[in-house]
Amino acid sequence: MSPAASTRGQAVLLKSYLKALRLPVFQREHEQAARQCTEQGRAYEDYLELLAGREVAAREGKAGDRRLKQAGFPSAKELSDFEFAAVPSLNKDRILELSQGRFIQKKENVILLGPPGVGKTHLAVALGREVCRRGFKVRFFTAGGLVTTYLEAREESRLLKLEAGLSRCDLVIVDELGYLPFSQTGSEHLFAFFSRCYEKVSVLVTTNLPFSQWPQLFGGDERLAGALLDRLTHKVHILDIQGDSYRFRESLKAREGGDDKAR
Ligand code: ADP
Ligand code: MG
Repeated sequence: MSPAASTRGQAVLLKSYLKALRLPVFQREHEQAARQCTEQGRAYEDYLELLAGREVAAREGKAGDRRLKQAGFPSAKELSDFEFAAVPSLNKDRILELSQGRFIQKKENVILLGPPGVGKTHLAVALGREVCRRGFKVRFFTAGGLVTTYLEAREESRLLKLEAGLSRCDLVIVDELGYLPFSQTGSEHLFAFFSRCYEKVSVLVTTNLPFSQWPQLFGGDERLAGALLDRLTHKVHILDIQGDSYRFRESLKAREGGDDKAR
């Protein structure tokens, strides 16, 4: 066999090996990487490390995209879009610390408390997206949506499946607790949800209701609200966001001529 034919045969074989091993980045980039390493006089180990690093990065990127999709976020708001200067009562370092996800490893919860429009949902989505990228499995629900999901699952006899799915999450976000009171059954499901998550799955709750008013969410049931708060706040980071609605301030600025906005 001529040397050219043997090189071609080798290339075909290598391609089939890389395909069998599911290494598309190696397959696509090994020749270019080999040229680059030869030019730079780098060792075989460098070549292998370069390719393996690219393959791992591509795989992690894909897994991160998949996790972001599965989380069901209602928007793509990021921490980088959040204007911390607009909410001086919020400690930016605490938010950045939470975005690292250590609270999730410790099975701790987060409560974002504050009036409408101060950025609670924005922060919940942005924190969720950040920890997704760090490898955590997240699901986003509004409180009403979570209750509806439970009621539907019960109706269709797949409560166990729903609960198994939720317990495989690292973080469940429950947005807008407090806007709507729940029915008796709804309250019971919500209670069951928080009990199930207790010390197993981290929960991030956003709410406009001070804790003292939580019983009204559960049809005035003080005992249920108390037991729920007890579980939720056992290991918790509470961020109390004070201030005026960001939306409202933005529209005021726009009405005043918009020159503030260009700052
Ligand atoms: P909440 O959930 O507290 O009612 P949202 O998170 O829905 O408030 O915020 C309302 C709107 O204002 C959203 O579009 C959000 O992105 C924006 N917003 C709120 N606070 C900020 C902020 N500090 N920086 C940038 N955008 C903000
Ligand atoms: Mg909100």
